[in-house]
Amino acid sequence: MEYRYIAGSSFGKDSMASILTAIRYKEPLDAVLYCEVMFDEDVSGEVPEHRDFIYKAAIPWVQSHRIPVIVVKPERTYLDVFYQKIRKSSNPLLIGKYNGFPLAGRCCIQSRCKAKALEQYAKKHFPKEAVKYIGLSSDEPLRLQKLAPGQISLLDKYGIGKEEAMEMSKAAGLLSPVYEFARRSGCWFCPNASERELVHFRKHHPELWNRLLELGKEDTATKRFNRSYTVFELEERLSKADIRKGF
Ligand code: SF4
Repeated sequence: MEYRYIAGSSFGKDSMASILTAIRYKEPLDAVLYCEVMFDEDVSGEVPEHRDFIYKAAIPWVQSHRIPVIVVKPERTYLDVFYQKIRKSSNPLLIGKYNGFPLAGRCCIQSRCKAKALEQYAKKHFPKEAVKYIGLSSDEPLRLQKLAPGQISLLDKYGIGKEEAMEMSKAAGLLSPVYEFARRSGCWFCPNASERELVHFRKHHPELWNRLLELGKEDTATKRFNRSYTVFELEERLSKADIRKGF
């Protein structure tokens, strides 16, 4: 079967509300396309609570509406990108070092893993005139202006803002538990994660947090994990925040 109307989804509140909107207003929807970024070959890049929600609740629910869900896994993992050696740089001191942690605001995991995998899949499997529903809410004018030809926001079409998207997902029992401790769904190693998210993550998933601490010992071009701190500075800061907030 040829898919012409595809909803791109991370199964966060906006993309979930976009699928609910398609169903509510009987918009054509042939398939849902989801990309699971991987940390390494075995470990998902999704925050574990969100991954459970995706595979145990969201995907089965979509499939129960007879809408196929396509899961794409990028060829390159986070560790592949992290351990890529720098070959060219205006700064000779960086040559030969590992790429290291992705930069906040210019995440190479998004461009080199996720976007690339989705683009390759679409090129191979979808017709040129395929329409892609993007989970952008009506109160994101700047991002809406950047939609490419063939991309549509159903939330904008029906005037659904962020809050309503959250309510719609909640009312349908399809709001990811990630929103209990984060403002958005994203990878667990995301440089844009807030302190609240990181405190939760460090406490509830120490085995994954420790993998980041191990990576911090490598000879990398970027020493910082996010805009302000290395993983070791974060470890100190978060352990204090953990005690302060009584998590
Ligand atoms: S969620 Fe964060 S780490 Fe993951 S692709 Fe997006 S910006 Fe990069």
